[in-house]
Amino acid sequence: MPELPEVTTTVSGLNKVLKNLSIDDVWSDWEKLVKFPSFKKFKKDITGKKFIEARRRGKNILIELSGDKTLLVHMKMTGHIMYGKWRKAERLNLLKAEVEPLKHIWTWIPEDGGHLNDPYNRFIHLLFQLSNGHQLVLCDARKFAKVALFDTDKLEDIAYIKELGPEPLKKNMTGATLMIRLMKKPTWPIKQALLNQGLIAGIGNIYSDEILWATGVHPLQKVSTISSAKMKRMFKTMREILQKSIKLGGDSMSDYRNIHGERGGFQKIHNVYRKTGEKCPKKDGGVIRRIKVAGRSSHFCDTHQKLN
Ligand SMILES: [Zn+2]
Repeated sequence: MPELPEVTTTVSGLNKVLKNLSIDDVWSDWEKLVKFPSFKKFKKDITGKKFIEARRRGKNILIELSGDKTLLVHMKMTGHIMYGKWRKAERLNLLKAEVEPLKHIWTWIPEDGGHLNDPYNRFIHLLFQLSNGHQLVLCDARKFAKVALFDTDKLEDIAYIKELGPEPLKKNMTGATLMIRLMKKPTWPIKQALLNQGLIAGIGNIYSDEILWATGVHPLQKVSTISSAKMKRMFKTMREILQKSIKLGGDSMSDYRNIHGERGGFQKIHNVYRKTGEKCPKKDGGVIRRIKVAGRSSHFCDTHQKLN
C-alpha cells in the first residue's frame, strides 16, 4: 500500500503537471470508487473545476480545486494516479464468452508507449479528461481505492482527516511528540502503534518494518517498555528512512508507480521487508523472520531485534 513517501511522490508530480488545467469530463467503469457524493453528483460538481494545488495528509492525496472543492484520493492497496494520454478502445470480454453473450468492454490504451504500458498500469477505472487534451487516471487492480469530493473549507472538520495523527516530517515534530502519541496505546505492540494512522500519520507496513529493524526494536515490544532514548532514535531513523525513500521516488515492490507510470527505487534497498529467511544485513548472524502482529505481517531480525 502506498505510504507517506509514495503519496509525497505522487503529490509533487501532480503539482508539476496540473497547473492551470481544468477538468472537462469524468469517466468510470467502477463508480463505487467514488465514496462521496454519488457518482452522478461527483461528476456534475467536479466538471469545469480548475486545479489549484495538491498536498498530502497521511496517506491521502488532497487536490484543491476551484469553487471551494477538494478531491481526496486514498490509493489503498493497489491504486495509483497517472497523467498522460490514452485513447479509448473497445474489446470483447472473451473470458466469459462461454457462459454469457459477448460483452464489449471499454479500455484505455496509452497513446505513446513507455512506462504507461507497464502491466501494472493497465487497470484504469476512473479518468478525468483535462483541458489540455491529456488525462488524469486512477489505476487500481483491486479496486479498493477511495475517492471523494469535499468542500475545502469543511475538510478539516471531516472526522477522517481530523483524527489523523501528526506528520512525521513536519518541522515541529519531535521524538518527544512521537512518544506522547504512541503512549496513547501503552500496551500495544510497537508495530501496531506505528501502523495506526490516528497515532502517527503516513506509516504503513514497509516503513514500520524498516524503522524497527534500523532502531533494533522487536515488532512485538510493548510501547510502554521502550525507553525515551530509544524512542528518540526511532524518530530520527523514521525521518531519515522516509526522506531517503522520497528521494528514491517511493517504493514499487508492489503496484505503486509515479504519475508517469514509473517505478520508485526504495524496494531495492529494503533491509528487512519481505526478506524472510535471508541473513540480516547487519551481519550479526541473525536471520529475518516473519510474524503476524495485529493481523499484519512483520519482518524482523531474530538477533538484534530482541524482545525485552
Ligand atoms: Zn540483525
